[in-house]
Amino acid sequence: MLPLLIVLSLAPSRPASPGVLLEGATVYVSADAKPRAASVLVQDGKIVFVGDPAAARKQASNAAVIDLKGAFLFPGWADAHGHLLGLGKALETADLRGAADAAEAARRIAAIAATLPVGAWAEGRGWDQNRWPGGKFPDARDLDAAVADRPAIARRVDGHALWVNSAALAAAKIDASTAEPSGGRILRRSDGSPTGVFVDNAMNLIGKAMPAASAGDFERQILAAARACAKVGLTQVQDASAYDANQIAALEGLAQRGELPIRIYATVSPEASGLSGFFTRGARIGRGGDFLTVRAIKSYADGALGSRGAALLEDYSDEKGNRGLLVTPPERLEALAREARAHGWQLWVHAIGDRGNRIALDAFEKANRAVPRPPAGGDRPRIEHAQVIALSDIPRFARERVIASIQPTHATSDMPWAEQRVGPDRIAGAYAWQKLKKAGARLAGGSDFPVESENPLLGFYAAVTRQDLSGRPAGGWRPEEKLSREQAFALFTSDAAYAAFEEDSRGQIAAGFEADLTVFAEDPIVAQAQRIPSIPVVLTMVGGRVAYGGARTRGGAP
Ligand SMILES: [Zn+2]
Repeated sequence: MLPLLIVLSLAPSRPASPGVLLEGATVYVSADAKPRAASVLVQDGKIVFVGDPAAARKQASNAAVIDLKGAFLFPGWADAHGHLLGLGKALETADLRGAADAAEAARRIAAIAATLPVGAWAEGRGWDQNRWPGGKFPDARDLDAAVADRPAIARRVDGHALWVNSAALAAAKIDASTAEPSGGRILRRSDGSPTGVFVDNAMNLIGKAMPAASAGDFERQILAAARACAKVGLTQVQDASAYDANQIAALEGLAQRGELPIRIYATVSPEASGLSGFFTRGARIGRGGDFLTVRAIKSYADGALGSRGAALLEDYSDEKGNRGLLVTPPERLEALAREARAHGWQLWVHAIGDRGNRIALDAFEKANRAVPRPPAGGDRPRIEHAQVIALSDIPRFARERVIASIQPTHATSDMPWAEQRVGPDRIAGAYAWQKLKKAGARLAGGSDFPVESENPLLGFYAAVTRQDLSGRPAGGWRPEEKLSREQAFALFTSDAAYAAFEEDSRGQIAAGFEADLTVFAEDPIVAQAQRIPSIPVVLTMVGGRVAYGGARTRGGAP
């Protein structure tokens, strides 16, 4: 990482905010502009000047100066589809993969436990006794040796067994007299007492005893996830978690207290009992120092391709008779699309298979006809993932003004088996980013973290190479669908801003725009492809505040 140098101006301070001057960088003001040496002046959370360094100095004689020492300054990058709560939970779960034995796994859980409030259950996942000396299942006593002051539980690598400590056994009131549940097994010692390992349905005996997450847990996990996102250069996350009314209230509290390090564009669950209340109250639009927007609903058409839950128009190519499943009845999606449009709210529909995408497009098309003029500048419906699309449906994205919210890393994660699922014909409409773009569709780029990494440079890399991190396959998978560097840059900046109704305030570096900025140590637009994933982030600024980076601005209130 580049060291940052702060030069404090000696000029006398004025009552007006002197701001922060970012100097010494190559600046990309937008995806369709050439990079240039320029300075960016930030005052009161906004960009007030971008251009000639000498002119900037003149305008900002007493601003704090951040010397970016040859780094590359971009509009703030955004993730158009991530799950903050899921990431926050993952950050609080010990990763037990690769642990050499039960004792090491237990120590890793203890390290996580030490970061949690007193009494909170500690969790781990990914242990595999087959890799340990002797190959025996672990015991509650192994875990007690490291974590005795609170319940601790750890899922096996396959998710089909749970290893717990004695405090968890006590909390769940499980002992030698506990009956075997159907469809599950409690491993026992010769005297009938539980060893602390629960298989399949027996895991529910422990799960039932776990306390529900508190508001404090929620806030802690959201903040940890948001900080992790700032660290990889993200200035905003469009959060696909579909929160309930209590969770939205907790997010509002964090925003009001100024605790959010980055912007959150949250989605609400359509199952939330308070949905009509959200409509009545109206959208919450965060701007400036208010980092929270709530104006979208998240629903599901179908499942996922890997587990053959994505809804297909014809059978799966690798499983006769299976066409996947619908998560929400089409009539319900149609009603939601109509309601959202009538209230000027945005509806996100998760759709992965070609049938899931067609059902979502049908719902949006009907809503567009039923409600010709939505309030609040249009509703900009979105299909999340838009993975496998019938070729005849691709033009409908542009025609019905539906945003295809894509996750480039899903393509490179799925490429080893995707064609087995859908066969050689349907694969032509799968992860078909250039076909969508050529048909006039708007895209937005995200990662779906924590399923994939939150680092947007991995998404950028996948979009421009369609290769895994070792550079395979040569030339990229179905390379005709690759995005150019400029297209991929737009995907995570201006396109993501449009998907959040923010193209006039975010996604570019221009006077009057929010001072949401991402600074990379190397230039991802020209770097050799294999270098892109490891380019360091130098600075993340959101609303003029440093969200990540070595610099602490002093001498100016940004
Ligand atoms: Zn998701």
